[in-house]
Amino acid sequence: MKQDSRENRTVPVMVPMPAERPYSYVVPPGMKVEPGSIVRVPLGPREVAGIVWDGDGEAVDARKLRPVSEVFDCPPVHEEMRRLVDWIAAYTLSPPGMVARMVLRAPAAFDPEPPLEGLRLTECRPDRMTEARARVLELAGEGHAWTRSGLAHAAGVSLSVIDGLKAQGVFETVEIPPRPVVARPDPGFARPCLTQDQQAAAEVIRGHVEAGGFSVSLLDGVTGSGKTEVYFEAVATAIEKDRQVLILLPEIALTQAFLERFHDRFGAKPAEWHSDLPPRMRERVWRQVAEGSVRVVAGARSALFLPFRELGLIVVDEEHDPAYKQEDRVFYNARDMAVVRGHIGGFPVVLASATPSVESRVNADQGRYERLVLPARFAEAALPEIKAIDMRRSPPARGGFLSPALLEEVDGTIGRGEQALLFLNRRGYAPLTLCRVCGHRFQCPDCSSWLVEHRFRGQLVCHHCGHNEPRPEACPECGSLDHLVACGPGVERIAEEVVAHFPAARTIVLSSDLLGGVRRLRLELEAIAKGECDIVIGTQLVAKGHNFPNMTLVGVVDADLGLANGDPRAAERTFQLLSQVTGRAGRSGRKSLGLLQTYQPEHPVMEAIVSGDAESFYEREIAERERSGLPPFGRLAGVIVSAAARQEAESHARALRRAAPSAKEIDVLGPAEAPLALVAGRHRFRLLVHGERRSDMQAFLRAMLAEGPKPHGSVRVQVDIDPQSFL
Ligand code: ADP
Ligand code: ZN
Ligand code: ZN
Repeated sequence: MKQDSRENRTVPVMVPMPAERPYSYVVPPGMKVEPGSIVRVPLGPREVAGIVWDGDGEAVDARKLRPVSEVFDCPPVHEEMRRLVDWIAAYTLSPPGMVARMVLRAPAAFDPEPPLEGLRLTECRPDRMTEARARVLELAGEGHAWTRSGLAHAAGVSLSVIDGLKAQGVFETVEIPPRPVVARPDPGFARPCLTQDQQAAAEVIRGHVEAGGFSVSLLDGVTGSGKTEVYFEAVATAIEKDRQVLILLPEIALTQAFLERFHDRFGAKPAEWHSDLPPRMRERVWRQVAEGSVRVVAGARSALFLPFRELGLIVVDEEHDPAYKQEDRVFYNARDMAVVRGHIGGFPVVLASATPSVESRVNADQGRYERLVLPARFAEAALPEIKAIDMRRSPPARGGFLSPALLEEVDGTIGRGEQALLFLNRRGYAPLTLCRVCGHRFQCPDCSSWLVEHRFRGQLVCHHCGHNEPRPEACPECGSLDHLVACGPGVERIAEEVVAHFPAARTIVLSSDLLGGVRRLRLELEAIAKGECDIVIGTQLVAKGHNFPNMTLVGVVDADLGLANGDPRAAERTFQLLSQVTGRAGRSGRKSLGLLQTYQPEHPVMEAIVSGDAESFYEREIAERERSGLPPFGRLAGVIVSAAARQEAESHARALRRAAPSAKEIDVLGPAEAPLALVAGRHRFRLLVHGERRSDMQAFLRAMLAEGPKPHGSVRVQVDIDPQSFL
């Protein structure tokens, strides 16, 4: 904060723009701001909300500066959050303004929630009594204030009865403070009786929360081992210590069951935070987190940017899940940033998974994280027996995708009144449509990808940009009628095959295409859990976290699917997804089976899943990464250059490559045309930067970007540190 000659104070303000540093503003006399204050400031012709930052603003003549317009009546953004913004900006090479923008996502919450108008009984009594009036007076007589409609509703009278009483002075108006979005969780509400393994793990993490200070625990337990019960104990301790808690979940919108479980344990729900929340609710949650009346948030990755003031524990459930990676504007991994947040705030972080990421396993092996193992399922429940179906030996019937061996098991399962899940991570009916006469393939006009047929909607759809067109009768190339063929399966096509085999079974297809959105999906998931259907055909939406007590068979239609795309994490991802999805079976103790349809049953991933020997899979995978210097033994960054014209993107990417400084511990590979060479009309090239573990990637990339040409025209450059996707 600077004083200039005319005694005008100036402050740096971080605005939600691609700004490299805060801008300076003048604080008008009498206005009180401090670091963290949320303020309204002029920016060009507009006004925006920004955060008063630390240190000095730019060295500009204060007489040229514009004044802060307003300080919002809002708790200041905590210093730990400001440090996190700086840290993420530096790590991801993003403008700090764009990171701060994620903190400022609920603009209407910067002003306090207006109090409700309430009615309270006075000494006055009405001129004449009616039965309706008597009911109202009896209810209101208990002393506390009511809303007008609440009182009318409770007393079973019309609003005019209330208004009449008010007009006679029987009620006075008072302010009712805004109600909390959720009640306070009670750590002692329903303490579970933990098993010995659970108890041991819970004691360790409870101890960390008790002691405070930064630590990372990796809670590594098979599906159904009770990881949730264990980390709830750490949550309980944090609540007792009056600290706020953040639980990150990869698919929060679909995990209503989780909220119920939390309620069962703590007698109140956590506040939810995700993009499907109604705007008004988002604002209230944001505000109440800032004010401290919300104690526990269960949220998607963006919950990391909520304005907690007393955060004392973060749990990252399913820590290996790719949904934690944001690949848009600011490329960050919420799992890793949660660890950074814990480090800045000096509190424990718990990472939970049945199939930890290789990174976290190595961190545990090397002693940076503490690994807590839950080796067995809770109670009597056994893990499903897993078998591979060799599709070369047991091929499906012509035109089908389900082998006789799998169909037979489905038949037996539904015959016993149990449920089967057929898993295929592909939406729609068929991933490719072609003309049998001329060979024409339907491709997206704006992307280098095939159009996926969605038969139910009668459309061909691009899964990268959303382009869609009606499925034609005739080939647009040669005009032949009725010669278009669908190639390969999606879930809709598997459903067709299932219905043909089991016409009497209750079948449902679950994917993000389901009409009715998230609400409908939630209802369907509940219905499945209640046993109201026999066969579920689903994408990864059904693979994650759900508890379907009656499900005893999981069939993976194409276990090889994820191995085909040849990126460095293909084996790990496939292992995780297959373990997750087969882990849906047998959660209530009945004998259960997982079947993998594969053309490569001898692949190490299939062998690991079938044998249940996760340890040797991790050992081999870790050794492989170490040998090739891949993360976490080395570092990777992707640089994606895109432009409206291919030539423009390519030459910019080449120029960047030439601008790379020379460093013996860092190599630049490419540029190469991206596997997804065209997305939404933009041509894409990729550079892959590969460094030794200790190399300073950020400094290297910064030097390259500073030395190279600035993006001009339609060219856009995106840096992706620790990339998960190589498309
Ligand atoms: P995970 O998160 O490891 O997959 P969960 O925490 O979901 O496992 O536990 C699996 C099931 O077992 C849940 O229905 C849970 O309520 C139950 N369970 C686990 N541990 C206990 C316990 N100690 N007492 C009662 N129920 C438990
Ligand atoms: Zn044709
Ligand atoms: Zn497209």
